[in-house]
Amino acid sequence: MAKPKLATTWLTGCSGCHISLVDLDETLLDVVGQVEITACPPLTDVKEAPEVDVALVEGAVATEENEEVLRRLRERAGKLVALGTCACFGGIPGLRNLHPLAQALQRAYVDTESTVHGVLPCSEEIPRLQPFVRPIDEVVKVDGYIPGCPPTPKMLAQALAALLSGQELVWSRRNLCEECPREHRAMKTTDFEFISQNVSSVCELDEIDPKLCFLEQGVPCLGVATREGCEARCLAGNMPCRGCMGPTPDAKEQGAKWVNAVASLLPAGTLSFLDDVMGLGCRFALPASLSPHWVGKEDEK
Ligand code: SF4
Ligand code: SF4
Ligand code: SF4
Repeated sequence: MAKPKLATTWLTGCSGCHISLVDLDETLLDVVGQVEITACPPLTDVKEAPEVDVALVEGAVATEENEEVLRRLRERAGKLVALGTCACFGGIPGLRNLHPLAQALQRAYVDTESTVHGVLPCSEEIPRLQPFVRPIDEVVKVDGYIPGCPPTPKMLAQALAALLSGQELVWSRRNLCEECPREHRAMKTTDFEFISQNVSSVCELDEIDPKLCFLEQGVPCLGVATREGCEARCLAGNMPCRGCMGPTPDAKEQGAKWVNAVASLLPAGTLSFLDDVMGLGCRFALPASLSPHWVGKEDEK
């Protein structure tokens, strides 16, 4: 029997999701045995995938070329799946949606502190940036999502097994706190000393109790607004969650959900101690959210 055909491609991202694929180690050998890989940027030099049963797409749509590649692949793929948080929600590249494109380019190529005599790149050969970064499902129909920045090899192995056996991809609707092993004691609600010690970085606390919920120690943790499934890997390393699995399916707006949850736990005014609430709450899912990045969109066109 012919093996199912698999293709992968990358749009605007960092290629980390493809590295996670290679990180499957010996499981990759099982996958290679079960499928015919027709195009995969780290493994082949095929620019144009032929018709395939399953296509995995890493990265967000940020350029005209991205959109063209994605639309062509959609036409040739039985199932097209978003691989990683950039493809699912816009990811880190989507943070540029907070600014008009001209400002973002100026900042990146001219105004950065390490740049001397910077100029904006200008060549016919450079793909034109689109005014806003978009998750791939704003451009084409998507048949499944594998969130994570990057998805863990275990998640990828499970997703590939499901895809190759014709099953739907199903992810949990619960948030990360459900799988977090940290202990919850009494959440402080009126301790003003705690408010003034509220910090953004774990480096700012002398001692972090590795067994206690971060929020209870005054450290912002996105677990309350983030989908479970990563096995709480940052928490295991004594780092708070930054939300890379994206929002739970019932909360389109990850940043607002986090603000809502934290605001109901902490005393009034606590959030004003954070410098960058958007960067914290919407770091991974801004383009898929309903948040104010849409302000000024009409001016950009
Ligand atoms: S989801 Fe993360 S690892 Fe994957 S391409 Fe985007 S930034 Fe890179
Ligand atoms: S807020 Fe963070 S540390 Fe606290 S239970 Fe949720 S995931 Fe764990
Ligand atoms: S703990 Fe949070 S930031 Fe870390 S991998 Fe999991 S979802 Fe991503």
